[in-house]
Formats: sequence, C-alpha cells, structure tokens
Amino acid sequence: MVSGDRTMAKDYDVVVVGCGIAGLAAAASAVEGGARVVVLERSPRGERGGNSRYTEAYLRMSSETEVSPDFESGLEANAGGYLDPELVKSVLKAPDQWPPLLRSLSFADPELVSHFARAVPEAIAWLKKFGVRFEFFPTQFLTQATPRLLPAGGGLAIVEALAEFAEGQGVTFYYETAARELLLGAKGEVIGVRAHSRAEGPIDFRGQVILASGGFEGNPEMLTQYLGPGAHFLRPVARGGLYNKGEGIRMALAVGAAPAGEFGNFHAEPIDPRSGASEPSVMIFPYGILVNRLGERFVDEGSDLVDRTYEEVTRAIWRQPQGIAYCVCDSKVKGIPAYSRAIRTDQPAVEADSLKTLAERLGIRIATFEETVRRYNAAIQPGPFSPLTIDGKRTQGLTPPKTNWALPLDKPPFFSYPMICSVVFTFGGVKVNTRAQVINSDGDIIPGLYASGEVVGMYYGSYLGSTSVLKALVFGRLAGVTASSSRHLAGTPSSLRS
Ligand SMILES: Cc1cc2nc3c(=O)[nH]c(=O)nc-3n(C[C@H](O)[C@H](O)[C@H](O)COP(=O)(O)OP(=O)(O)OC[C@H]3O[C@@H](n4cnc5c(N)ncnc54)[C@H](O)[C@@H]3O)c2cc1C
Repeated sequence: MVSGDRTMAKDYDVVVVGCGIAGLAAAASAVEGGARVVVLERSPRGERGGNSRYTEAYLRMSSETEVSPDFESGLEANAGGYLDPELVKSVLKAPDQWPPLLRSLSFADPELVSHFARAVPEAIAWLKKFGVRFEFFPTQFLTQATPRLLPAGGGLAIVEALAEFAEGQGVTFYYETAARELLLGAKGEVIGVRAHSRAEGPIDFRGQVILASGGFEGNPEMLTQYLGPGAHFLRPVARGGLYNKGEGIRMALAVGAAPAGEFGNFHAEPIDPRSGASEPSVMIFPYGILVNRLGERFVDEGSDLVDRTYEEVTRAIWRQPQGIAYCVCDSKVKGIPAYSRAIRTDQPAVEADSLKTLAERLGIRIATFEETVRRYNAAIQPGPFSPLTIDGKRTQGLTPPKTNWALPLDKPPFFSYPMICSVVFTFGGVKVNTRAQVINSDGDIIPGLYASGEVVGMYYGSYLGSTSVLKALVFGRLAGVTASSSRHLAGTPSSLRS
C-alpha cells in the first residue's frame, strides 16, 4: 500500500523485521555501516530470538575457516526438482546476463549457493569479535556423516552477543511489535513497513526494509495451505517457532517477490509429544524398531547414519495414523556408549517386561505388534553389531527392511518413546541475490527490500543439515551491509514525511 494516512511514522535508514540471528546480524552489520537502525520484534524482550534462541546451532563446518566438503554440492543436489535444462544452462553465463525467467526461478541457484559458502568463514570470524566462541562439542547424533561446529551457549549466545552490540551502538528495539504490511513509494520501491505495537498501536517505520521474520512454522493456516491436511499433527520443535507466522514471506510476495524454496516442505525432527521442553528429540530409533498405532513397522529405521536419515524417518512418522509412532528398544540398547545423548525428552520411557504389557501401556494393537516383533526378530541376519558405524547388520526378506543395527528385541525390560514429527522451520521463502536483495517475479530487484534467514527460500527435498543458522548469519550480514551502503540512494519521498 502507499502510505498517506495519519498513522504515526518514524524514520530510520534501515528497518529490520525480526530479532533472531538473521535480524540481529543484519542490524549489527547495518549499524557498523553507519545506518540508523530499528529492529521490530513480535515477542517480549525476554523471549527475543525466535528459533535462534532455542537452537544449539550445529554448523556444517570442518573448522572455523572451512565449511564441510559437501556444503555446496549438498545444497545443489536438492536444487528444486526437474529443472528445465535449456533454461538452467544459462547459469554458466555471468549472472547479469541470465534471462529474467532464470533470475526469478525457484531453485537453489549455484551462484547464490557458492556465494553463501564462501561468505561463511568471514561471518564466523565476525561473530567472534562479539565474544562468541566455537568448539566441536558432542551432538545428539551417535552416528554422523559430517562434522558440526557449535557455538558455546548455542544460538542464544549469538542472539545475546549481537543484541548487546546493537543496543550499545544505538539500534532501537521495538518489542511486542509485529510488522504487517510493506509501504511502497510511487515507483514500487519499498519505503518502510507498517507494524502494530502492543503499547503504541499502528506505526509506520520508514526506511529500507530487511525481512528476517522466520518461516511460517507458527502459522497453522499457512502450514495447512502449503503442507496439506495432516498439518495439524505438526508442531514447532521449540516455542520460538510459534512467533514465526509467515508475515515476512507474505508481505514480500504481496509486493511481487519471486517465491523460492519448496513451499510444500519443511525441516522435520522427531520429538516426544508428551514433553513441553525445547527440542525434546528422540534419535535412538536406529537401534530399535518404529511401529505405528496399528503395531506395524513402516520404515527402515537404520538405512544410513542417523544425521542423514532422521528427517525422512520423521516425515514417515507424520504420515502414520494420527501422525504418531513408537520407538521400541530392548535393554541391550542401554549398553551403547553414551546412548542417552540421543534422547532429549524430559519424559520417562514407557517400560515393560513383556511385549504384550508394553503394547498395552502404549495403547497400540497388541497382537499385530507381537507378530511384527516376531517377524522382525526372525528376519535378522547373523553378524556383528557395531552401533557407532554402519554395520550392515540387517534383516532379510522383511518389508520394510532394516539395513543396519538390526538387534533382536529379546532382552527385557523393553522401553519405548512416543514420537511425532515437529517442524523445525519451513522451506518456502523468497528469492534473493548475492547482496540479499529481494528479486521480483520478473527477475528484477525490488528496491529497498532485503531478506535473510528463513525468509530466504533455498531448501528443497532434504534439508542439508546444520546450514540454516549459517544462512541466517550470512544473509543477515549481506542484507545489513548492502542496506547501509545504499541508504543514501533510498530517500523517502518528501510527500510521505509527516
Ligand atoms: C530447537 C531448534 C534446533 C535447531 N537446530 C539447528 C541447528 O543445529 N543448526 C541449524 O543450522 N539450524 C537449526 N535450527 C534452525 C535455526 O535455528 C533457524 O533456522 C535459524 O535460527 C533461523 O533464524 P532466523 O533469524 O531466520 O529466524 P528466527 O530465529 O526464528 O527469528 C525470527 C524472529 O522474527 C520474529 N518475528 C516473526 N514475525 C514477525 C513480525 N511479523 N514482526 C516482527 N517480528 C517478527 C520472531 O519473533 C523471531 O524473533 C534449529 C531450530 C530450532 C528451533
């Protein structure tokens, strides 16, 4: 809309929507560049940080100066379905010579992905300036395909360090203030955002706008719209996701932004539905079996290293009756070194000395469950069990098969955790260029509009694990730097000044 009414207006160079890692990296970078910056945040101050506040923030890096060897290839391998080869071959040209259809195409464009990967080490070095420290702490994955660097104190440490810096540099924060609508100038450029403050009512914040308001994991209507009818069985993996209701994406699409990222998909993680803790995950399933409410297995629980498989397994759980499954192990699993690292729920296991009693306690079909376990035990092939590497200890003649870690369920007490599919974040977002400027559906820049973090659509198919915090950090930095350096070009038309 064009602002022309009597809503209170406040002028800045840069208006950042969202106070997670993406928004704070943007705000800190913009203020370093000399801009007058305001951050709008839906939550109260004590809850600031959205998903970033709750993540341990695994980073797909081999060291502080190198991303993992598969970083670019992994993102490009999930580039976006069956792309038109005639169109996509133009990626070999310089980006300014790409046809508009390619510039606005929904795919993980290799130029953007390699720019992202190259920018990571510098962004980590930048974060260290604010006192954030990194180490290879143990993760919840007992088997993993890639190293993961972690910030000491997780995402919250990054949120607090960047927010403290921004506050010290004079960035203004409006908490309990939700952005609702972009303000456009006469030529279609973005000149600000209309927000609603709980304390002050509607306010127009004028300046260039950086959308860093996360995905739509906290919006049941959008989840159902894009993911389908089973969406009501999903819930955000942590409370921070509930603040992300998708307005940033909606606002950008409403002014013509090109959609990017797979709107019908999301990053899934298995959690215990009985727990209200943050990320109450259960990653022990490769060593047991997963059954649904009917008492049937439905997925290969051990097809690969757990950090490669948990997303697909979790999505399979979502497709089961009532969107729930039960991981069943026997007491041998408790002999696996550090097995409890793979169990984050604060709720106790359901235990029993017999399979029948376990099924009764879980409320699943007893006879089918007993038959499922009998057939599973009978199908296990001899061979050594090696829990921390791919061991090939498999079933034969069983559907679905179990490819690794097929231990018989024969040593009581048996124990089990219920598991549902949680949404860590949604994949659908908007297209940006290597300066984090939002691209419209005609392949052109929308002047005055930037996006970072989950608002940037880049993921399709399987999520390349431990890249989302880095995406927030890198595109937040790019947006803040670009917006502060172009602020002199982005004057608000005088007709709109109060
Ligand atoms: C428990 C958990 C574990 C995770 N583990 C990992 C991991 O190990 N590695 C990894 O890379 N990623 C991980 N992720 C994902 C990662 O944390 C996020 O994708 C990333 O932090 C997103 O940052 P962001 O700034 O884009 O969004 P967020 O951090 O969610 O910030 C968005 C902010 O915008 C605010 N907001 C929303 N709408 C509005 C509005 N209309 N107006 C004003 N403010 C608004 C929200 O309140 C929120 O503060 C995990 C996430 C969770 C929750």
